[in-house]
Amino acid sequence: MDWQREDLKYIWHPCSQMKDYETLLPIVIERGEGINLYDTNGKCYKDVISSWWCNLLGHCNPRINQAVKKQIDTLEHVIFANFSHKTVIRLCQELIKVLPKGLCKFNFADNGSSAIEMALKMSFQYHYQTGNTQKKKFMALTDAYHGETLAALAVGGVDLYSELYKPIMMDVLRVEAPDCFRCPLGKCRENCSCECFVKAEEMFAKYADETSAIIVEPLLQGSAGMKIYPPIYLKKLRALCDKYNVHLIADEIATGYGRTGKMFAFDHAGVSPDIMCLSKGLTGGYMPMAIAVTTQKIYDAFYDDYLKGKAFMHSHTYAGNPLACSAALEVLKILDEENIIEKANKRAVYFNKIIKEKFLPHKNVGEVRSIGLINAIELVADKNTKEPLDYTMRTGYQIYQKALEKGVLLRPLGDVIYFNPPLIIEEDDMDYVTDIALQSLKDILG
Ligand SMILES: *Cc1c(COP(=O)(O)O)cnc(C)c1O
Repeated sequence: MDWQREDLKYIWHPCSQMKDYETLLPIVIERGEGINLYDTNGKCYKDVISSWWCNLLGHCNPRINQAVKKQIDTLEHVIFANFSHKTVIRLCQELIKVLPKGLCKFNFADNGSSAIEMALKMSFQYHYQTGNTQKKKFMALTDAYHGETLAALAVGGVDLYSELYKPIMMDVLRVEAPDCFRCPLGKCRENCSCECFVKAEEMFAKYADETSAIIVEPLLQGSAGMKIYPPIYLKKLRALCDKYNVHLIADEIATGYGRTGKMFAFDHAGVSPDIMCLSKGLTGGYMPMAIAVTTQKIYDAFYDDYLKGKAFMHSHTYAGNPLACSAALEVLKILDEENIIEKANKRAVYFNKIIKEKFLPHKNVGEVRSIGLINAIELVADKNTKEPLDYTMRTGYQIYQKALEKGVLLRPLGDVIYFNPPLIIEEDDMDYVTDIALQSLKDILG
């Protein structure tokens, strides 16, 4: 069977111009192990982007496999209104131990975008039910990414995904995000105390009264090209939100679960959001699941006699799915028992060092930035002016193709090449994938 041609007969792949598949056929994966994926011809690909950032502890992790197998023979799924099960309760008991202080009420969904929708609705309804019916707007950062359902897309600010749909989306108040690579205030990472936060202050001074919440990807704007900004921004934002009675929604879908070197990105700032969204990493990349977790205070604003009409009437069929919960519970156990994040942080120092050594000398590398095991290499036309490459050349895409030929799965964001590997990646694989990535870059840019 020609699996690749059969695939194209039926499947419309996500986030793809299907015409591109004429020259780059879909890669049909047969099995996975650790950071390795094997296609139907037995060719190995190193998955250093964690299969869209969700695989945390390697493919076919023996412990998670075992946990899911055990669950599947006990209970596969059950309605989650009025009904519950032990695995989800245990999961909440464990999660609450590692979440930022104050987050204690868990609402389940089955994908990240849905958790964002839930957070936005929850925030609006809280204000509505506590006498602030004028708070109908949301604030979000430029270049933000929060998923691709309509409200999630609306708070997002990456034109590539949202521009076309603007006529059918809600209006959002846009705060200029920190841009530490091309700082408009002429600062650099070493000498900055987040002077750009004044942009947020200005927006709050004007619009906070009508604003329900501000949503942010803490410390790392992933889809924008792995843009990294300092924790002090979150600290200042927390204070500003408190001053104006605006909720702070943390989209930790990509940053949670040790990706930034701590369990959650908010842990770097030592403050808590009012609502936190989790998904990628939550089940180790095994099963679709998401959570919007919030505070007792928000929860209480919905708690009343039924006929008062204050309930949160939001549901997803697969909310609290036991199979996903069994994977999620095992992930937390592994992180804890095997000291995964601590060990990953040690290897992250090595990873960043070799990436800087290998890539920084190249004439088209504008910056190497990193947080946790995430390392991004921003390609530019000119190192000094930081002028971007001509995007119509699709340089990142060409490098992606070259690296695939050589057995490394990179999938750059435009002209930003990045690594966001499973936390268990070892030094020899770091050596190998960075060599291949550099070779692929040189193949295209000389
Ligand atoms: C992936 C992602 C989402 C959306 O999650 P889906 O499960 O793809 O809907 C939202 N926010 C961030 C930061 C993400 O990385």
